[in-house]
Amino acid sequence: MISTNSFNNSRSTISGIPVHELAEQFGTPLYVYDLSVIEKRIDELSKFDVVRYAQKACGNLAILDRMRKRGVVVDAVSAGEIHRALLAGYSGDPSKAEIVYTADLFDRASLELAVEHALVVNCGSPDMISQLGELRPGAEITLRINPGFGHGHSQKTNTGGEQSKHGIWHTQIDDCLLRADQTGVTVTGLHMHIGSGTDLEHLSEVCDAMEKAAMTVGRTIHTISAGGGLPVPYRDDETYVDLDQYFDLWDAVRNRLSERFGHHISLEIEPGRFLAAESGYLIAEVRSVKRMGENLFALVDAGFNDLARPVMYGSYHPISVSAKSGDASERESVPVVVGGPLCESGDIFTQREGGYVDSRLLPAPRVGDYIVLENAGAYGFVMASNYNSKQRAAEVLIENGSAKLIRQRESFEDLTRGEMIPE
Ligand SMILES: *Cc1c(COP(=O)(O)O)cnc(C)c1O
Repeated sequence: MISTNSFNNSRSTISGIPVHELAEQFGTPLYVYDLSVIEKRIDELSKFDVVRYAQKACGNLAILDRMRKRGVVVDAVSAGEIHRALLAGYSGDPSKAEIVYTADLFDRASLELAVEHALVVNCGSPDMISQLGELRPGAEITLRINPGFGHGHSQKTNTGGEQSKHGIWHTQIDDCLLRADQTGVTVTGLHMHIGSGTDLEHLSEVCDAMEKAAMTVGRTIHTISAGGGLPVPYRDDETYVDLDQYFDLWDAVRNRLSERFGHHISLEIEPGRFLAAESGYLIAEVRSVKRMGENLFALVDAGFNDLARPVMYGSYHPISVSAKSGDASERESVPVVVGGPLCESGDIFTQREGGYVDSRLLPAPRVGDYIVLENAGAYGFVMASNYNSKQRAAEVLIENGSAKLIRQRESFEDLTRGEMIPE
């Protein structure tokens, strides 16, 4: 399966519901998720034994609930994510491994919760093995291995190699097995997540490294995880990875290990972005259109407090205009710089890595129109902040043609919760 998306710069509906209706009913800025897209992506991964969602990409309880009902299990990278997974109905029963805690360290709260719920822990540093083993001798763990090289769409998303803080260095597996032995901990699985934006050539190196690492650990291994990093196209010229080839490469490793160890090895995949990105839209209202020399700015009521990827990574999101009335696609397209309301010159959605301001060809926007930032479902709302004392946006899920509120817009009370003025 290799296909490309083609993005339009105007849009009147999301999953059949008019954008202006969503905006009028729920207000802006507004995150909208189309459940059917998530379900389609889940189904595309059905060849894998286990699809483990990296909930950090988009962790709303309703989304986790719907994923759970479609057979997807979860990853938790913090105590808060363990709490969230339990609230969404995931079982803490270790024999089911519905929640795996995966991190490079235990803070005190996450160690406590992982022990209390006897979670399977995917250890990204040798210290985690000893810390867990002391409190839960006999625990089963998996090891996240850093194979010594990595890959990512940005230095900040590269998760392998010696500049990455992630995982256990590939030459230290023997040390880890010793540590595990000392507290009776068993290594039952291996994991490699080397970054977002996997390509197949690179993947075969990862597969080789996995096989080698598994041979070092030996036949206590029952699962291998391919990690996350499946790309989604954000631009017209970007593609999905060929999932059949991707699966075949991993399946071959799994089969060789199954044969060697004489038992079935379960093959997991751990996507975040792939399941969530394309389901999500951030709707913002155009509040000002102004010309600054050569540039036409459309200023909208969402900022990097709502969607941080452009300012953090220079990430590109498709942008479309939804006319307040009429059809934006009939307007002439003009170059537009799209910015938000924050008191920061970096609050620009159309920027390249390095902070260079770019423009986008969009149907000439008018005050009162809506701007839709697309492919915003992953690392969107979850990175939202209250900077400039902005309330975080509401979230809505579209399911079977109807839009349901899944998170209220924050209130002024939410903004100051927990603050106090000492006497
Ligand atoms: C972030 C993360 C993922 C998901 O990454 P995507 O690029 O969103 O698929 C998977 N596994 C681990 C351990 C992660 O930290």
